[in-house]
Amino acid sequence: MDCLFCKIVAGKIPAKLIHDDEHCIAFLDINPQAPTHFLVVPREHVASLARGGSSHTALFGHLLTTASAIARDRGLANGYRVVVNTGPDGGQTVDHLHVHVLGGRHLTWPPG
Ligand code: AMP
Ligand code: ZN
Repeated sequence: MDCLFCKIVAGKIPAKLIHDDEHCIAFLDINPQAPTHFLVVPREHVASLARGGSSHTALFGHLLTTASAIARDRGLANGYRVVVNTGPDGGQTVDHLHVHVLGGRHLTWPPG
């Protein structure tokens, strides 16, 4: 399968890894939209949040608790935003589920 994030998970494409465990990895976004911008990515290829089912409950929970732990470690005590762009209308461009974590500046609402 020709999937960019599967290749990063497999170590075939380099990334600035900041976390690595049995179920997921996290790395810095190549085009950061905030002073801190990283992605939490499951090792398993799940195309999007819309493709998750009841078998993914523990994995999806793990992605969020990992995002929270990394945000804490990176000093985002004043808050941050977690985003999961899903499908064409959600602005998803890489079809392998990923959790964005953005912080280090005040983020406006609503998003574009
Ligand atoms: P999305 O638009 O939600 O699918 O997000 C995809 C994200 O992946 C974007 O923020 C990109 O900047 C990021 N991205 C694409 N290629 C790479 C890469 N090789 N390494 C790190 N981040 C990437
Ligand atoms: Zn993949």
